[in-house]
Amino acid sequence: MSDPTTVFVATCDLSGQVRGRAVPHSDEEDVLRSGTGWVPANLGITSFGTIASGAAFGSTGDLRLLPAESTRTDIPADPDVGKPGLRLYLADQTQLDGEPWACCPRTFLRTALDELRETTGLSVTASFEHEFTLEGLPATRPFSLQRLRAAEPFGSDLLALLDGAGLQPENWLPEYGEDQFEITLRPADALTAADRAVLLRELVRDLATRRGLRAGFAPLPDPDGSGNGVHIHLSLQDADGRPVLHDPTQPGGLSEPGVRFAAGILRHARALTAWTAPSPTSYLRLTPHRWSAGGVYLAERDREALLRICPTSRLGGGDLARQFNLEYRAADATANPWLALGVLVRAGLEGLNGDPADYPRPKVWPENAAESDLTAVPALPRTLPEALQALEADKVACSWFDPDLLTTHLAVRHGELAHLDGLDGDAARARETARVH
Ligand code: GLU
Ligand code: MG
Repeated sequence: MSDPTTVFVATCDLSGQVRGRAVPHSDEEDVLRSGTGWVPANLGITSFGTIASGAAFGSTGDLRLLPAESTRTDIPADPDVGKPGLRLYLADQTQLDGEPWACCPRTFLRTALDELRETTGLSVTASFEHEFTLEGLPATRPFSLQRLRAAEPFGSDLLALLDGAGLQPENWLPEYGEDQFEITLRPADALTAADRAVLLRELVRDLATRRGLRAGFAPLPDPDGSGNGVHIHLSLQDADGRPVLHDPTQPGGLSEPGVRFAAGILRHARALTAWTAPSPTSYLRLTPHRWSAGGVYLAERDREALLRICPTSRLGGGDLARQFNLEYRAADATANPWLALGVLVRAGLEGLNGDPADYPRPKVWPENAAESDLTAVPALPRTLPEALQALEADKVACSWFDPDLLTTHLAVRHGELAHLDGLDGDAARARETARVH
């Protein structure tokens, strides 16, 4: 495509919202070298647009938004609806001299991955599955061809857009919930996977708007309906790129490093949700019998488990060890993908490097476990305040963050709770749902 005239340089905030600024195309090379101006206070803005009281950043301070070239994404012009093309970059938030800024969510993930590599020799491959609803379509049945066709040409245009942008779409499917769809991308190295999750939501929203539809990623748009989950798939590789999660001799086929990594996630699960499911309505979705995540446990192919051991297949000469992965199910699109994946890596790293006495081997629940067998598994937090308390009480989890980032995250979460305070359940959910469209 010919070069677009506008280049948008963006980051993603503590509520998963993409913020940034545009520069003229003629400045692109310069901005790639030296970034563009930015402010730390962006992290202290709630998803309702209010400034959270208690955030660590105020009226002073300056940063640079330094674009990562690998994230360059072109949205082609759409003359039929009067939209010019746009070039988009995701950026690191750096200090003015280009040094890393410890509160930058993208830097948080990269630092966690570096530490994993340095201390264990392991790296992470990941993929984010996104569910969302498309408003403005006729009613159709779950999983049906009718629903797929009702969303045309949006669906085909979306696959072409993602393909052209290098996001490697894998599955596009009419999902179970009313007006619900799902898009999955091929696995990639962890930073790329999280970058793609940030981009994907924006590309979906932008295309839906251009096609006269409204895409919504709210965790639970309808209290009687299905939730919109973001499931994060993870696998580990050694320094030579060999997969290390699979050991067919072990329960569930999960290797020793895999069990230890999972132990870290399970041990810190209640604190993790304060990052991976950071909205009040996130906790309406995280209830049993929604196939979201019904409890803190690790299980073979169980869609109610917090950590699910995913299926593998030999069909077509499939390599089981390469396919083998863990799926973390308690995330949604109100989370920042860099932070969500970053905290999973941090927790897994604690499990790998921590004292085994602190990280006991989790039980791998078999696929045929009955619900009555699972009654004693620990519960996820039932509300956002409960998750925030669990985070503050988990000193190991708190130690992963620059104090300013932790303080600001808590301030934003409490600011959003205060914004909804006094509204009844339906009104609060409606306001929340509207903001993540
Ligand atoms: N909609 C479910 C969720 O909220 C997921 C269903 C599925 O397994 O795809 O996570
Ligand atoms: Mg799904």
